[in-house]
This record gives sequence, C-alpha cells and structure tokens, in this order.
Amino acid sequence: MHFGDVKVLFPRMSVTRSRTAAAALLLLLIFLEAHLSTQAPVNGSSWSYIGPDGERMWPKKYPFCGGVFQSPIDFHNDILQYDSTLLPIKLEGYDVPFTEEFVLTNNGHSVQMSLSPTMSVGSLLSKYSAAQLHLHWGNQKKQEGSEHTVGGRHFAAELHIVHYNSDKYPDFQTASDKADGLAVLAVLIEIGSFNPSYEKIFSHFQEVKYKDEKTLIPGFNVQGLLPDQLDEYYRYEGSLTTPPCYPSVLWTVFRKPVQISEKQLLDLETALYSTQSNDPAPLEMVNNFRRVQEFEERLVSVSFRQGFVLSVVLTSGLSTVALMALAFWLIRRKRSSTRTKEEKGVIYKPAVTKEEQSIAKA
Ligand SMILES: [Zn+2]
Repeated sequence: MHFGDVKVLFPRMSVTRSRTAAAALLLLLIFLEAHLSTQAPVNGSSWSYIGPDGERMWPKKYPFCGGVFQSPIDFHNDILQYDSTLLPIKLEGYDVPFTEEFVLTNNGHSVQMSLSPTMSVGSLLSKYSAAQLHLHWGNQKKQEGSEHTVGGRHFAAELHIVHYNSDKYPDFQTASDKADGLAVLAVLIEIGSFNPSYEKIFSHFQEVKYKDEKTLIPGFNVQGLLPDQLDEYYRYEGSLTTPPCYPSVLWTVFRKPVQISEKQLLDLETALYSTQSNDPAPLEMVNNFRRVQEFEERLVSVSFRQGFVLSVVLTSGLSTVALMALAFWLIRRKRSSTRTKEEKGVIYKPAVTKEEQSIAKA
C-alpha cells in the first residue's frame, strides 16, 4: 500500500530511488505510529469506564489509581465523626456576571465547564480558586450515577466543582498532584423539581454532543447549583476519581442533595457521546462514575450532628424512655395487683353471681 502511494507521488523516479523513498516513508510512518500511541495516555484518552481500558485497568497505566486515599467512597455511620471545627462553606465570586463567559467542553469523559479563578472557596486552610466543574451520571435505565454513596445508596448524579490551592500553586496543573493541591465541592443530585440553574448548562448539550466540541455559556450565579445549606457536609481527604487519580483532593460533599427534573436528568443521560462526531462507532456518554473505593481505618468528618448523631442520641434516649416506661409499668402492675387483691371481693362479686346464675341455668 505504501509503495503504491509512493509511485503515485513520484511517478518519474527510478525504481531504486522510489524504493528508498518508500522505505524511508514506511520508517517515518512506523515512528509516527509508535510515537502517537505512546502519546495517547498523556492526552488522557486512553482510559474509559468500560471495555479493555475500564477502571480495573486504570492502575496499570496510572499507578495512583491503585494506591491510597482513593475516591469516591460510601458514607456510612461507622466511619462518620462529628467535627465541631468544620465551618460553613463560604463562596467568593460565585455570582459571575452575564457579560463573562464559561467554556463548556465535551472532553470524552464528561461535560466540563471552565471556571474563573476569581471564584474561590474560603473557610479552608488555604484559598482554593475554581478551575472547572463537571458531572457524573448513570443511564436512563439505571439512574444511579453519583460517585459518592450514602449508606450504600447512589444518587442520580453528582456535580464536582474543582478548585486548586492558589495560595501555594500558580495553576491547576501544578497543584493537581500535590497533597494539599485540590479541593472539590461535590453536590449529590436527585430527581425532583425543575432546576433553572442546571438548565443554564444543560440547555447547551446539543452544542457539545461529541468529544472535543466546545461552546460558550454566559455567566450566571454558580452558587445556584449548590444546595441551600452550605453548613452541612462530609469532609475527607481523597483523590481525583479519574486517572491519574492523584491523592490530592480535600473533599467536601454536601449532605443535602439538589433536585433536577426527570426531563433534565434524561437530557444529561442521553444527549452526549464519548466519541467524536465522525466516529463510525458512536459511544454514548453514560455511567461515567467510578465505583466506591475501600475506606478502612479512617474516618470521615461531618459538620452536622443531626441524622447519624441524632439517631444515636435518639436510640439511647428512646431506650432510656422505654426502660423507664417498663419500670413504671412494672411498679404500677405490682401496685394494682396488690389493690386487686384488696378489692377482689368487690370486683368479683357480680361475676361470681353471674357464674353461679349460668351454672344454675345449665
Ligand atoms: Zn468528578
């Protein structure tokens, strides 16, 4: 095939020269192919959620994915610990004016919106500036696509707002592999009422249907994507949930989910493709969530007492009440049985009479 191409390109060349050129071209092609294939992982396109590059294979190319502090995890009562020092999350610059623009991109793994570093999270040890946000979801048949789970239960989807430590590092890339490099705010999403804030992103899905497509979105108040209660959250040290899985993320997962409508969720689950527009084998962008990871001998801090702590208090409180009720009942029973003995004659007199009467009748 290559020789044929060369002949077309150099029809007047002698056979020898043509063969030399062809061999050189062949070598060049082999080199390019080898070079491109080694470049592929750097482009981040050599991993997926299913198939031969699925998450079980991630650690082979990305060793951190098989390492420590991996995310996401399941939040269950045994690992939760109330921490009174966890302050409400403070957001700065999140209300982005209409005149500014966000870039929305289909990166083949998710739909991602670039954020301005003028947006930041306060109330952490360092200042963390926003880099991007993206989503994780399931599919229209199994609408369980959140990454973090609560008591083993998935939510429909999950939003991640990624920030980097801008006190210490110049940009996201530099910060991404540092232990204190990143902070992600995570929002659990469930089906409920229509959400106009999410619609500011979702209404542009048709413009980024295929991998590498981009579009611009006018600025809006990004805080509208978060739940109202910014003081109740789970906090732990974990990792990026996609390769290279660096253990560099301080996670804040809000306790209260936000709602989007069933139609909006369906848009998310069906509008996008992981493949480019000209791909002969299009692949729907679905189930782009990583499975929960082992989380042993560590604790998740929680900023709220209600729920699990309340249930412990309630359980112990209820058992105290139950014990007291039992004791009270036993005392009353004893007293009333004593009284019954005293009043026996009075109570049973009519009954005895009735019995006597019925016996008499029989
Ligand atoms: Zn994510």
